Amino acid sequence: MRSVSKYFDGGDTVANYKLDMEVDDGEFVVFLGPSGCGKTTALRMIAGLEDPSEGEIYFDDDRVDGTPPADRNVAMVFQNYALYPHMTVRENIEYPLKVRGVPPEERDERVAQVAELLHIEDQMESDPGEISGGQRQRTSLARAIVREPSVFLLDEPLSNLDAKLRLEMRSELKRIQNELGITTVYVTHNQEEAMSMGDKIVVLNDGTIRQVADPEELYERPRTTWVAKFIGSPPMNLFEGENRDGTVQLAEGNSLPMPAETSSQTVSVGVRPEDIDVSTAAPNTDWTVPGTVKTVEPLGEYVLVNVEVGGSVVNVKVPTTDAAAGDGVHLTFDPSDAYLYDGDGELVA
Ligand code: ATP
Repeated sequence: MRSVSKYFDGGDTVANYKLDMEVDDGEFVVFLGPSGCGKTTALRMIAGLEDPSEGEIYFDDDRVDGTPPADRNVAMVFQNYALYPHMTVRENIEYPLKVRGVPPEERDERVAQVAELLHIEDQMESDPGEISGGQRQRTSLARAIVREPSVFLLDEPLSNLDAKLRLEMRSELKRIQNELGITTVYVTHNQEEAMSMGDKIVVLNDGTIRQVADPEELYERPRTTWVAKFIGSPPMNLFEGENRDGTVQLAEGNSLPMPAETSSQTVSVGVRPEDIDVSTAAPNTDWTVPGTVKTVEPLGEYVLVNVEVGGSVVNVKVPTTDAAAGDGVHLTFDPSDAYLYDGDGELVA
């Protein structure tokens, strides 16, 4: 996509603004962002279901914006996997091949292959009404794959499944994509899904790209406070502060042994919940952030402690704690684990 924008309502609604991005051959790319950020519109433009208002879309070296969807060799799967109810699973999968005039023997062979790939061989003679949600979703994926499209587009395909099935289908989808090596663009607002499946994640907000990175980099180096607050569960904590002669002075607490290498006067310090320690006794550092415990939630793998610091809540993940609601506590962290953002919310390199 080269500088692709999409406006609706005579320009009043900006669904996408100057999207610049590339998907490599065989790559699994995820568009991730909150509701209304423009993920679906971007996908529909790749499919040819919407025309860009501005900009260009290429498949390899061929410009495709303006090319009808049927001539793009893309397959799209939606969350409401519309299957033909009066056709069996087999007939549903076979249908796109029939429409294209593929001879019966070849149809049989290709349908059998995708049925095996998606583990639905035993449901082939059932009607869509007689199979489970997961099997219906597999059928709609099979129907998309059987055409051997050059690009596979998926819009929240797992959101109608229950949590257990969603997990199962995540790894199934990833396996199938790997096996077929098919270039895939996947839309979701679920960051776990994005992180576990994507080779590359495109983070969108307000119609614009906020960051393009692989899952590890996205987690390790969120480029803006917006991305930092969006990624992670719970996401990164941000402490407001000031740049005082090149060191960070926190708004709550004292001066941090952390250089503020920016000309920006106001800064924020980002720390992941797992990188913060909480203690009821004064720790043996010469700086701490004082706070009051709001809640303590034992979550099995870790304890989540919510601490109120100057009117906002800081999330802390610790293995165990003796802190209880109402306790005054001290928060500490290793400044080398902290991220520094300038007054515009940009990561200071
Ligand atoms: P969700 O996750 O809720 O589906 P999304 O990130 O996919 O959201 P889009 O559906 O792409 O977001 O919508 C982006 C913006 O464009 C929204 O403000 C939406 O209301 C608007 N929009 C999308 N399609 C149209 C349309 N056909 N006419 C007018 N506005 C539209």
